[in-house]
Amino acid sequence: MKVLKFGGSSVADGERIRSVAGIIARAAASEKVAVVLSAMKGVTDQLIAAARAAEEGTGAQEGILASIRAKHFDAARLLFGPADQSPPLTSLAVMCNELEEILHGVELIRECSARTMDLVMSFGERLSCVLASAYMNAKGMGATLLDARELIITDEHFGAASVDFPRSYSLILDRLARVPGIAVIPGFIGATPKGVTTTLGRNGSDYTASIIGAGAEADLIEIWTDVDGVLSADPRIVPDAFVIPEISSEEAMELSYFGAKVIHPFTMVPAVEKNIPLLIKNSLNPDAPGTTIAAAAAITRDTSRPITGIASIDGISIVNIEGGGMMGIPGFAARIFAALARDGINIIMISQASSEHTICLVFRTAEGERALAALNRELAPELVTRRIERFELLHDLLIVSVIGENMHGTPGMAGRLFSALGTAGINILVIAQGSSERNISFVIEEKNHTLALRTIHAEFLAPHVQRHKARAG
Ligand code: ADP
Ligand code: ASP
Ligand code: MG
Repeated sequence: MKVLKFGGSSVADGERIRSVAGIIARAAASEKVAVVLSAMKGVTDQLIAAARAAEEGTGAQEGILASIRAKHFDAARLLFGPADQSPPLTSLAVMCNELEEILHGVELIRECSARTMDLVMSFGERLSCVLASAYMNAKGMGATLLDARELIITDEHFGAASVDFPRSYSLILDRLARVPGIAVIPGFIGATPKGVTTTLGRNGSDYTASIIGAGAEADLIEIWTDVDGVLSADPRIVPDAFVIPEISSEEAMELSYFGAKVIHPFTMVPAVEKNIPLLIKNSLNPDAPGTTIAAAAAITRDTSRPITGIASIDGISIVNIEGGGMMGIPGFAARIFAALARDGINIIMISQASSEHTICLVFRTAEGERALAALNRELAPELVTRRIERFELLHDLLIVSVIGENMHGTPGMAGRLFSALGTAGINILVIAQGSSERNISFVIEEKNHTLALRTIHAEFLAPHVQRHKARAG
């Protein structure tokens, strides 16, 4: 059995849904398949904007809802003939009305909790699946629409819920075994044991596909997107970026953790655990071979490439904690982490000078101010006694991460990297290297984004660009 997941751009309109159904039909001709779908492109962002508008009382949710409705109705009119469009249009209308009522409730109480936001966001995937499964059935493909909330059981951490794997796996195995044809499952969503709707985090439909694949004991999980595979860098920033034919799950996880949006970082976990390879494919170019992601031992590594890829996260801030008083005090870092954890603030990177005179913490900008407030509270006594001299908060920064198994044990990699950036006139603010030596990450100013990525790509991968482009045809 095989799981096929299609992202938002693959189901962006009626035309794209039609071609996706073709890909599914070809796959289903030779083996059992289950399908996981994202919301139509842009719909999740629209749902969030609608909920926020209702909460703020701007009234803008009505226009947004009209646009969401139109997107699905237009697709339905394109996919179904006049004779058979009435049932799917009715199903879509019923769901859109329910969504309207929920938004009305939010507007009345002027509050959208994380729990309500998850319910609102769930409509994206549920609507796209209603549409696509109805179309597949109209084409005689034998689709069964399943409710992901009956398959993926999570905790109550709304917005980024944690999955109860044993329970979810047994539900998935049992339910999928009873689907005679093609199961169609909305990505991104789950439910608590009490049936309250949750979401798995933005971009989480990839993760759903992996959970379904692992639960159903699939042989392969295919992630269909709008690029030819995992590329050596974000193609929108580095035009020379090329498709990596095979990549280890650790490398893929690091690339995605540090910003390569092509796959959600958690996706690799269930797949690797059950030894199921992932294949990234392009629904706009189905003949391209794609990228295989599997355990390091199961892939052929190109040892001639010094690095595998580059990723970046923008919208970054850092807090520098400076002061002689931190020197040699055990438990100081623990206090900082505990204070931040209490406020639910996620530290992306940490670096400490060996003199222990400064500790630098790296956050998303949205969390930077809250982090500063938490640190001020926790470290107030040290500020009074001047053991800590000052905090410094810097914005408009970017994390760049250079990733590759081949860096392990290759001396001089960091030197080569930083001297290339120095020659390009790029100043480095913070550096961290994982002890795995699979990753060197550093912080620079956001204005150097394009220059930094292209410089690194040229420094390490220039000789490989032509070869890969030639192979891709
Ligand atoms: P989907 O809607 O299919 O889930 P996403 O937009 O989430 O697709 O992810 C695909 C996008 O990720 C690509 O269009 C590409 O612009 C971007 N991307 C960023 N970094 C990489 C990378 N290293 N390899 C491939 N794509 C990348
Ligand atoms: N629709 C969700 C999002 O936009 C999940 C996904 O597409 O993977 O984040
Ligand atoms: Mg995605």
